[in-house]
Amino acid sequence: MAFVTRFAPSPTGPLHLGHAYSAILAHDMARAKSGQFLLRMEDTDLERCRPEYDALIQEDLAWLGLSWDGPIHRQAAHITSYNTRLEALEGKGLLYPCSCTRSDIRAALAAPQEGVGFNVYPGTCRQRGLGSRRPGDALRLDLAAAFDFLAATDLCFVETGPAHSGQHRIDRDQAVTQIGDVVLSRKGEDIVAYFLASAFDDADQGVTRVIRGEDLFDFTPVQVILQHLFGLPTPIYHHHRLIRDDQGKRLAKRDDARAIAKYRAEGATPADIRRMVGLPNP
Ligand code: GLU
Repeated sequence: MAFVTRFAPSPTGPLHLGHAYSAILAHDMARAKSGQFLLRMEDTDLERCRPEYDALIQEDLAWLGLSWDGPIHRQAAHITSYNTRLEALEGKGLLYPCSCTRSDIRAALAAPQEGVGFNVYPGTCRQRGLGSRRPGDALRLDLAAAFDFLAATDLCFVETGPAHSGQHRIDRDQAVTQIGDVVLSRKGEDIVAYFLASAFDDADQGVTRVIRGEDLFDFTPVQVILQHLFGLPTPIYHHHRLIRDDQGKRLAKRDDARAIAKYRAEGATPADIRRMVGLPNP
């Protein structure tokens, strides 16, 4: 089977050592399998993403010696199409409009952070029909209804990463109590959930191996459920270890001290960066 993977940063800040690890690992795995390494900008957060970070990410990757195949896919250009595709679920009784506070919804849509689990929604708006949708309402997935809809489907995925390696079966009760009714979009406002856009793109780009940080492992069941609802294939997942700071915390965009651009300016070489994140030099 062809090996197609991707690096999917959000251009909301400079690349740091954690991104470098993720990108180099995915690149090296793809090249070792004579596969493809794609670059996708997950720039759906229109308030926080900046073209200058998009440019800097490309510069840093090229400096690290990583080349990507084909054109860069930018999600911001596809938000309308993600929302249109979501409409396919409308007649199936799986979505409902939700008018709970904007900040709740925005937090639910953002990419996840380590240690911040799902904010399980209590179902306040679950009885509302789609006909009652008002401007600004979010669309939530009724997760229990989605499981009923997919009743005959074996919901599972294969993981090859070090912490969770093996086959994972998605348990309905666990998902309903620990994930809940996730927000998928807010129509008319150019907002779509990260994990929905990324599930569509992985399928459209023919990604067979998703290589990403362990902090995203908990999102995988939601993506697998969405793949089945939209008739998309499920790739193999590989969630890798995270690069941490001296206090053991996962690096974040604000950790500019570990920005690749800063190491570059200080005279580090790509080989130094590989050593710093514990990856072999080719
Ligand atoms: N855009 C996400 C991030 O920067 C990565 C998503 C993914 O690899 O699936 O954390």
